[in-house]
Amino acid sequence: MDLTQASRLRNVRYDIRGPVLRRARQLEAEGHRVIKLNLGNPAPFGLEAPEDVVREVLLNLGEAQGYSDARGIHPARLAVAQAFERRGVADVGPDDVFLGNGVSELIVMSLQALLDTGDEVLIPSPDYPLWTGAVTLCGGRPVHYRCDEQDGWAPDLDDVASSITPNTRAMVIINPNNPTGAVYSRATLLGLLEIARRHDLLVLTDEIYDQILYEGAVHESAAALAPDLLVLTLGGLSKTYRLAGYRSGWLVVSGPRQHAADYLDGLELLANMRLCPNVPAQHAIQAALGGLVDITHLLEPGGRLRDQRDHAWQQLTAIPGVSCVQPAGALYLFPRFDPAVYKITDDEQMVIDLLEREHVLLSHGTGFNLPTTDHLRMVFLASVPVLDDAIGRLASFLADYHQ
Ligand code: PLP
Repeated sequence: MDLTQASRLRNVRYDIRGPVLRRARQLEAEGHRVIKLNLGNPAPFGLEAPEDVVREVLLNLGEAQGYSDARGIHPARLAVAQAFERRGVADVGPDDVFLGNGVSELIVMSLQALLDTGDEVLIPSPDYPLWTGAVTLCGGRPVHYRCDEQDGWAPDLDDVASSITPNTRAMVIINPNNPTGAVYSRATLLGLLEIARRHDLLVLTDEIYDQILYEGAVHESAAALAPDLLVLTLGGLSKTYRLAGYRSGWLVVSGPRQHAADYLDGLELLANMRLCPNVPAQHAIQAALGGLVDITHLLEPGGRLRDQRDHAWQQLTAIPGVSCVQPAGALYLFPRFDPAVYKITDDEQMVIDLLEREHVLLSHGTGFNLPTTDHLRMVFLASVPVLDDAIGRLASFLADYHQ
């Protein structure tokens, strides 16, 4: 009998690491060099972690051999709670913090503890697609709300409000956003939070890029703006601290907990069932959040991320028919290919064709649950010469591309 995957996986989509990546691996196995601008993984681009943080892990390796508290080691949870207090999130202590093997694990846990079959979760479109995939995996129904490219990819509050049904349980906010790079204004966040308040929704806010901000953009913490709402804020070491391989993240519970005791017990049960997160990596957290680490040198003019963003944006938008909202945060450009110029009916196929012809690996917009086929995502972690090379290849590919 054929061994088949569980039916609960049938509708789970995570296309950004699907067939396109498999084809890239084949090309590499055949000896081709592929320029990979598909993953927000800083280390391979030479953006290494702060030494002080890594040293802390090395110093504590001997102490990290056993399981820890299922929620994570106390000093790390305390450091996270204190960092949140500094950001204006009231009344959080180490007991409100769950550490995980990256935000990824905590996304799945937070939804597993919440959802029954058919429960609906509001998720931005486009989104970081693990959110959509994890809701489906947990038996829930992702309901996408529109983010408006004309308005710098801000969530369309009317669309959010009109997407609510009696089955809606939670609202996901991704700010700064992957893939669009949007950093939401206080007014937008207050609007989202007011909808959550009115409909008694759990707020799940993914703020993993909270410190990767350009040109004076300000990140507002949703939890700080809504102390009267139950908010789960997720963050981690992968991006700001360039430690994606350590798999280390946190989830902070804030707001009124009394009515949520049963849900929080469920979350704790799931934390217990995985025994604990990777312990060596937990030792990086206190050093990372303790104030030693500053990444402004990467974000200011002359800093790598800032220069790469500016350069890639200029080069991309110089291609006829390509426009792009300039990202105010995070690590991605999400250009639009004018449908009047480029007739793209299948954006995943376009990414495969680009890969085969030019050996450049990008990600297709529909992989981020965008309903239209006119966007691709490009990571701007690579150095300026590599970005130049990749964008030059994209331009020559587009010059005679037809589907
Ligand atoms: N959330 C967002 C918005 C992301 O972009 C990513 C990774 O790209 C993650 C979560 C996953 O982070 P982690 O490495 O902590 O699992």
